Amino acid sequence: MRVRSRYDAVVVGAGHNGLVAAAYLARAGWSVLVLERLGEVGGAAVSRQVFPGVDVRLSAYSYLVSLLPDRIVADLGLQVTLADRAVASYTAVPGGAGLLVEGEEGPATTASFRALTGSAAELTGWRRFSGRVAALAEDLAPTLTEPLLSPQRMAGRLRDPRLWHDLRERPLADVVADELTSDVVRGVVLTDGLIGTSADLHAADGPAGRCFLYHVVGNGTGRWRVPVGGMGAVTGAMAAAARRGGAGLVTRAEVTALDPRADAVTVHWTGDDGAEHAVEAGHVVGGAAPAVLDRLTGAAPRDTSDGAQLKVNAVLTRLPGCARAWTPRSPSPAPSTWTRPPPSSTPRTRRPPRAGCPTSSRSRSTATR
Ligand SMILES: Cc1cc2nc3c(=O)[nH]c(=O)nc-3n(C[C@H](O)[C@H](O)[C@H](O)COP(=O)(O)OP(=O)(O)OC[C@H]3O[C@@H](n4cnc5c(N)ncnc54)[C@H](O)[C@@H]3O)c2cc1C
Repeated sequence: MRVRSRYDAVVVGAGHNGLVAAAYLARAGWSVLVLERLGEVGGAAVSRQVFPGVDVRLSAYSYLVSLLPDRIVADLGLQVTLADRAVASYTAVPGGAGLLVEGEEGPATTASFRALTGSAAELTGWRRFSGRVAALAEDLAPTLTEPLLSPQRMAGRLRDPRLWHDLRERPLADVVADELTSDVVRGVVLTDGLIGTSADLHAADGPAGRCFLYHVVGNGTGRWRVPVGGMGAVTGAMAAAARRGGAGLVTRAEVTALDPRADAVTVHWTGDDGAEHAVEAGHVVGGAAPAVLDRLTGAAPRDTSDGAQLKVNAVLTRLPGCARAWTPRSPSPAPSTWTRPPPSSTPRTRRPPRAGCPTSSRSRSTATR
């Protein structure tokens, strides 16, 4: 591809956010160049044949879709298929039957709550909390594709401003404990406040509540779905939309510095062959992490949140068997990945998972909707 000397916008990084920004700008008639450091587009949302000799392409890192608004899919004409999962989460409990939460609440979820807790009270609390979260998700989701609102203006648009306040201002563990009493059930819900972060569930400093919100508001349902073809199919469709609009995408092109002036930004980048290039941009869109942009602009590094993510990829020929644990009666897509186990919901202690059993699939605490 021939790179011009000036573009209306240069996008740094071809992860899904950079690609969507590029597609919208190109559709609006802007000249757009996307520069991606790696040899493929998609960032952490890519499909790979992970195991040599096993002809299966799976999502190498990120693997479930919730925070992609339907509106973006429609606007950009993305051809993606997202599949629902029959089981939202299953949490094994030593010596017990564990807790099963179906994607759509059915008799199995009801029975599982009763078997675990010995009464219907905890399920009632779960439904009440899930209902409140569901209403908040419906109210918040449309704002994700609007200009950012202040917390005060946002509160004015919500049916449950109290929950919005609590999730931002109070420790997540306390908010959940208001509604639920079982340590296991609390633990399943609190997983959504921890995924990928080192947040403190007992602190009122924000990260856990924020993480929780991001995991429950997607498209107003908080449903997490499996992309057919893996995440690479989703970002591939985004890249195709950007190209259709006229954007140029260059891989193995690492941006090394951004030099802003009053009327433009000079974007310095290094090509595959190590050669240095420079291109003028009316605007630069940061599709890489904020810390990367700080480095590129020479700005003082901002505070970052600590976090970690471990993913185990597996290709299964059948569902794993777990002694004395729940096994699905009806066939459902075999989960190919398991995320971290939920935190022990007994504050600050951790129970070992039962040997040989996945402790939990990705928890969807609001999946009863
Ligand atoms: C193991 C794992 C599992 C996850 N699971 C999920 C999940 O199931 N669902 C979910 O929604 N989220 C999940 N996430 C989080 C999700 O992957 C990220 O939120 C998402 O990928 C961020 O997208 P992005 O486009 O903002 O950035 P990225 O995907 O990080 O893309 C940024 C791109 O910028 C490029 N880049 C960086 N620096 C430069 C430079 N100097 N010049 C040019 N290019 C540059 C990078 O190479 C990269 O391609 C997971 C993350 C991990 C690590």
